[in-house]
Order: sequence, then structure tokens, then C-alpha cells
Amino acid sequence: TLSDRLTSVLQNLRGKGRLSEADIDATAREIRVALLEADVALPVVRAFIAKVKERAKGAEVSQALNPAQQVVKIVNEELVGILGGETRRLNLAKNPPTVIMLAGLQGAGKTTLAGKLARWLRGQGHTPLLVACDLQRPNAVTQLQVVGERAGVPVFAPEPGNGVGDPVSVARRGIDEARRAQHDVVVVDTAGRLGVDEEMMQQAVDIRDAVQPDEVLFVVDAMIGQDAVNTATAFRDGVGFTGVVLTKLDGDARGGAALSVREVTGQPILFASNGEKLEDFDVFHPDRMASRILGMGDVLTLIEQAEQAFDAEQAEATAVKMGSGQLTLEDFLEQMLALRKMGPIANLLGMLPGAGQMKDQLAMLDEKHLDRVQAIIRGMTPAEREDPKIINASRRLRIANGSGVRVSDVNDLVNRFFEARKMMSQMAGRFGLPGGGKGKK
Ligand code: GDP
Ligand code: MG
Repeated sequence: TLSDRLTSVLQNLRGKGRLSEADIDATAREIRVALLEADVALPVVRAFIAKVKERAKGAEVSQALNPAQQVVKIVNEELVGILGGETRRLNLAKNPPTVIMLAGLQGAGKTTLAGKLARWLRGQGHTPLLVACDLQRPNAVTQLQVVGERAGVPVFAPEPGNGVGDPVSVARRGIDEARRAQHDVVVVDTAGRLGVDEEMMQQAVDIRDAVQPDEVLFVVDAMIGQDAVNTATAFRDGVGFTGVVLTKLDGDARGGAALSVREVTGQPILFASNGEKLEDFDVFHPDRMASRILGMGDVLTLIEQAEQAFDAEQAEATAVKMGSGQLTLEDFLEQMLALRKMGPIANLLGMLPGAGQMKDQLAMLDEKHLDRVQAIIRGMTPAEREDPKIINASRRLRIANGSGVRVSDVNDLVNRFFEARKMMSQMAGRFGLPGGGKGKK
């Protein structure tokens, strides 16, 4: 597996400076194989690897990760980004009904998806209507009626006995029916063929023009592999689509089709289907798909753990410094930044019982104050941060001017820092914390 192969590349180097060419190349080679094994199309792999290499070259060497881990981390981030970053929601029409048209090859999972979408939309408080425009296969209408019934959603279909109806007319009448019965979303199921063909594409275009859909969802089987690129391109050029749905992710496909379709068409993936039952369906999660394509959920977990462990190591080192009264303003700034990464302080405070009412005031005050503290420390030289004792009157004036605050603000910060440091050392001594009591008095 990729994890095994990568382990051989993972020399436990913790360096400084930049990632070496050799590190990047070795890891990129393994990633390339992984992507190809996941059935990502070759041109997409090439473009992607080039992008990753470019970014890896500029990256500082992480102290928490070895070079291979770091490249993997970059790959993962890029992959999540390309797959859509955040999940894109359905476009709902300002004037209902919202019309969603499904397009794709036969067997892709359109009719099943129609039922899944209907059920999901109902769960979101919508009142969907399904419209049966696949009049190609004898069973197609019945199949939609069955999933509609399971989803508890009505189905508009041509009356039986009228011979083979005209799908465009059914589509049009379906929209009228939705207006009349006040359905706010319409899902239009269409016919597919085993391969891309003119007639099918023309029918899809005619239906599209008749119903003016707010979304055309291209439904594609994740198992289709390399072929995904050709099929997606044909549908993009033939009908055009606004979003993608991947199906059959419960199979053993690694999901390379997702990356290929996304890269080649530039359209986002909205939903993922992973089974035959109506509830086997979810909005698409780029991060899950990325680790599936890389096939390295475990490596990614290791990377996360390594980073956390490193944070813990640093925190431990800081605690020792605190206890021994050797804390510097640099440490202080780092701790503050780490804390702020967790979100506005007010959110943390807001979780305390009784703090709810004060929350807004807290947010204003503390965020502003923290910004100022941060600006002041940033305005200091490394030497000043390391040993705040050297910060004399002229230095205070320079820092205040440089960070846009008053000298009294700088005084305040420095004085309080010394007080806090002393107090921490005393407390650590009393409670037997690491480094406690050994410090300068
Ligand atoms: P359509 O021709 O595009 O309408 O495709 P269908 O909805 O009829 O699906 C074709 C076959 O794939 C059916 O047997 C479905 O039960 C099956 N199917 C659809 N979606 C999924 C899925 O996400 N996972 C699995 N395992 N099977 C699926
Ligand atoms: Mg169908």
C-alpha cells in the first residue's frame, strides 16, 4: 500500500530550512502512483503533482513533521481544496419551484438518486415532486414510482396506455403540476444510454430547454474510473451541468473519478451516494474523499497526531519555562496565537454558565485588547522579547510608535508580564509543577 511505500521514504529527519528537492521528488513519485491506482486520469495527475511540487518547494520545513509527512500534508490540503473545499449547497430558485434535472449514463444511479434526493429534501422541510422523463425503458417509470413511494414523495408520470409519451411534454406538464400543487422543488429523472449518444444528448437538451433547470446534476458512477473524464466532458459539452453527484461509493473504487471530473469540468461535487437504500446518501465531503483517493486515512491520522504531539511538547516546554520564571514574551505570544486559533476568546468564555449575556461585550473588549497585545509584542525585537528586562524608556517609546499604541500601554504590558511570570513561578513551586521554584526570584 501507499502507506508502506511511504514509510520507506519517511526518514525521520527534522530539519530546518526548506524541503529538499530529493525529499519532494521521492514523495511525489509515491503520490503519483497512488493517484493513478485510484484511477485519476493521467493529465489530471500530472497537473496536480506539478502544483503540489511547486507549493512544497516554497514550504518551510515543519518541526513537527518529517519531509515526507509534510509533502503528504500538502497533497491532502491541495486535494481537499480542488475537490471543493467547503461543500457547495443546492441552488434554490427565488421563485419556486426549484427545478433539478438529473443527467448521466444508464445505470449511473439517476433514478435511485431521484428517490434519495426526494427523501433528503423532504427531511429539509421541502415538498418535492418527482417527474418521470425516462420513457426509454419499460420499467423506468415504475422504478421511479417505487422510490417515490419509499421516500413518501409523489411522482408525476405520463398516463399509462398512451403509448410511448414524449419526455419533453411530460417534463413541461410536470412543472405545471408542481406549480399547481405548490411543490417547491422538482426533480426531473431522465433517460440514459450505455454510452454517450447523439439522440440521448439531444433529448436531454430538449428537456433542459423546456424546464429551464436551476441545477443540472451530472450523475456519475465512481467505479467508472478513467472513463469518467470522457463521459463528463461529453455531458459538459452536450447538455452542460452545474454540479456532480458521485454514486456507488460503497464499492471498492478509490474515487479518482471525483478528482478527474472536478478538474476537467470545474463543476463542484454536491452529493455522494453509497448504497442502494434511500438513506445511503450524503452531501459530499471533500476531506473524506481526499483521504479515500490517497488511500491513506491512517497516514493522515499519524500526521495529525504528530502535529498534536509536537504542540504538546511545546506546551510542556513552555510550562517548564513558566514554572522556572524563564518565560519570554516570545513564548507568551506563541501561546496567545495558539489560543486564538481556537476561535474568538469570547466563544470560549461564552460557554461558561452565566456568561451568555456578557458575551458581546466580552467579544469586543477582549479581541481588541488581544489585538493590541499582539501588536505590541510584534513591535519588539527578538532580543526584547527574549529578555524584556532590557526594555527601557527609549525602547518603550519606539515600540509604542511602531505598533500604534500609547507608551502607557507598553508599560502596562511589560509590567503585567513580569508580575504574571513571578506569580506563575511561585505557584508552580507551591504545587510542584515542572520547573517549579527553580526560577529567578
Ligand atoms: P439510472 O439508470 O441512472 O437511473 O440508474 P439506477 O438508479 O436505475 O441505478 C442502477 C443500479 O445501480 C441499480 O441497481 C441501483 O440499485 C444501483 N445503485 C444506484 N446507486 C447506487 C449506489 O450508490 N450504490 C450501489 N451499490 N448501488 C447503486
Ligand atoms: Mg433511471
